[in-house]
Amino acid sequence: MSQCRHCGAYVSPRDKVCSYCGAPNPHYQPPEKDVNRLLQQGLDAFRQERYAAAAESYQQAAALDPDVFNSYFYLAASLNALGREQEAIDAMRKARQIRPGSAAVAYNLGVMYKGMGRAREAREHLESALQLTETDPALDDNKRMKQIIKQKLKTLP
Ligand SMILES: [Zn+2]
Repeated sequence: MSQCRHCGAYVSPRDKVCSYCGAPNPHYQPPEKDVNRLLQQGLDAFRQERYAAAAESYQQAAALDPDVFNSYFYLAASLNALGREQEAIDAMRKARQIRPGSAAVAYNLGVMYKGMGRAREAREHLESALQLTETDPALDDNKRMKQIIKQKLKTLP
């Protein structure tokens, strides 16, 4: 368990910066070679829309190293593409534990709950995503992300 020295949020030892405030993580260590290889395999499969193969690689990566954000984020996306919605949400919740400040994670949770017809949870996560766009250092275009989230909120009953 490592904490951001600046804001106190949880920071994964595999993340270079805090997901809330962007402060550098002095305890950062890159993943092992085997894990990186699996992540690359997963990404290749994901891009080719081979989601079962992608999920398999990301699951293996997560088993070797439970601290890597991308393993759970893309595992969730792969499972969701396979129609395994509840498992996808479970994986995305793990991604959120690793990067609690990620607007993309909150957004995806919102979209997944919407897909399952669970509007109340969808709204909670989308509103949280909207708030996180104010601080998330991983966003390239905070304004654009805000627009996307607002659009999605409008589609809820
Ligand atoms: Zn921080």
